[in-house]
Amino acid sequence: MRELHFILDEVTGDLTVEGLSDDEAQSLTGDLLPPPRAINCALPAAVSPVPGAEAVDGPGARVFGVWHGSVAEGPGRRSVVGFSGCPIRCAGCLVPHTWPLDSGSRRAVAAIADALLDPAHPRDGVSVVGGEPFAQPEGLAALLAELRRREPGLHLTAYSGYTLEGLGRRREPAVRAALDLLDLLIDGPFVRHLHHGAGEWRGSTNQRLIPNPGRALATGRPIPCLSASAWLAGHVPPGDG
Ligand code: SF4
Repeated sequence: MRELHFILDEVTGDLTVEGLSDDEAQSLTGDLLPPPRAINCALPAAVSPVPGAEAVDGPGARVFGVWHGSVAEGPGRRSVVGFSGCPIRCAGCLVPHTWPLDSGSRRAVAAIADALLDPAHPRDGVSVVGGEPFAQPEGLAALLAELRRREPGLHLTAYSGYTLEGLGRRREPAVRAALDLLDLLIDGPFVRHLHHGAGEWRGSTNQRLIPNPGRALATGRPIPCLSASAWLAGHVPPGDG
């Protein structure tokens, strides 16, 4: 049996279907809807560069762009920033163009926050994807702190190809600061043979949805590995609380 998810954005009217190939979507809806466009985590239909000049001084991060209205990268409707650089290099990664540590453009944290919080786009939260966001822990922590400062109730999600336990062993204070600022961490590398059945938000079933990862690390309790639907069944989505 296969699980499909249909997500209709009440603002834009966009229909996102999780679990169908392009051909399957075309044969199912082709007589009713325009041709489908494939999207995936960190692979949206369009990416906008963060405006501004190369940030040489002050807090900043190398990023490949931002996008809005995502329902593929965390709960609700997300504004998303893609961090450049990933040393993990999973087999089958969909975004190998983000791997070089010098890819993308270095932008000031304030400019990235401006782009993410663009008032033209409604959102339930912000997600940071990669590349590997924790390859730039200072920039990640500074961005999360800036977003928290500007909108204290904003739901913050980040992806990492490292496990939470691996991040917990790192000594940089910025790693722990970022974990403490996150509402949700989606952790673990992409494992190609575990792709089937991953459902929404995850690339493979080994990846875990970990609320309040800083607190989870402090308590040391085992972390269950849940699909998005199982996770949502036990959590109130942002905006409904
Ligand atoms: S951690 Fe993410 S960006 Fe890095 S190689 Fe794996 S899937 Fe690709």
